[in-house]
Amino acid sequence: MGAPQPGKSTPLVSRKSGQPATIVAVGDVRFGGRKVVLIGGPCAVENSDQMTRTAAYVSAAGGSMLRGGAWKPRTNPYDFQGLGEAGLEILAEARQASGLPVVTEVLDPRDVELVAETADMLQIGSRNVQNFPLLREAGASGRPVLLKRGMMTTINEWLSSAEYVLAAGGSDLVFCERGIRTFEPTLRNTLDVGSVAVLKDITHLPVIVDPSHAAGDVRFVTALARAAIAAGADGLLVETHFAPKQALSDGAQSLGPDQFADLAESCRAIARALDRDL
Ligand code: PEP
Ligand code: MN
Repeated sequence: MGAPQPGKSTPLVSRKSGQPATIVAVGDVRFGGRKVVLIGGPCAVENSDQMTRTAAYVSAAGGSMLRGGAWKPRTNPYDFQGLGEAGLEILAEARQASGLPVVTEVLDPRDVELVAETADMLQIGSRNVQNFPLLREAGASGRPVLLKRGMMTTINEWLSSAEYVLAAGGSDLVFCERGIRTFEPTLRNTLDVGSVAVLKDITHLPVIVDPSHAAGDVRFVTALARAAIAAGADGLLVETHFAPKQALSDGAQSLGPDQFADLAESCRAIARALDRDL
């Protein structure tokens, strides 16, 4: 097998010889430049107070974007599914209060237009990485797309998914490695840090890492975040909650405010060692 070669089948995503890296802009935030972009926020948008408080401490720690799901792809239909449209309004309020651009997941092709009216960036989640109608709608929306890796997709399949977005007219796409399913059950997923190095080599697009869904446990999130930056990641997507024990989803992997600030500090040191900043 060996490392994948830039494929003829993914011409828009693959890096042509001599092609410079693409910088993806989301408001004032730049993915793929010298600065490592730190995105923080809860798994799910729960209420307005939560998001406004979170945005303030994410920003104070050096975060430059806010995350939070308004629609949540939950394994069980009786688990909290997100606030839907009301969640978008809360995200807009938190952006207004903090100045941070927001990224949020869109689950359904029929919601792309609505989500794109509010969100600065559309997240396509792991479970939807091969939802081709959704990829096309997101690509045509005019918004930058954050494309997570599927828990069961190879790098080549992931590249083809990105190609759908670009072929539909999108030009701004950021890859997000979030761990894959392997034989190892100790952590929630296995972070494929090698995929960061590979994608940086064979594509011209930025690559970030979500250490939260890879680890599944707060104790290991910072170590994975540090490894991601050392491997060349252009940013981090980190789940944080002001009271993780009360979180309506993914509390076990959500850093509290102080832990989030510690992660930022610790990752900044790695970034600086590589002549980058955070
Ligand atoms: C999330 O970001 O909260 C999420 C559901 O992530 P993933 O799609 O990577 O599981
Ligand atoms: Mn989550």
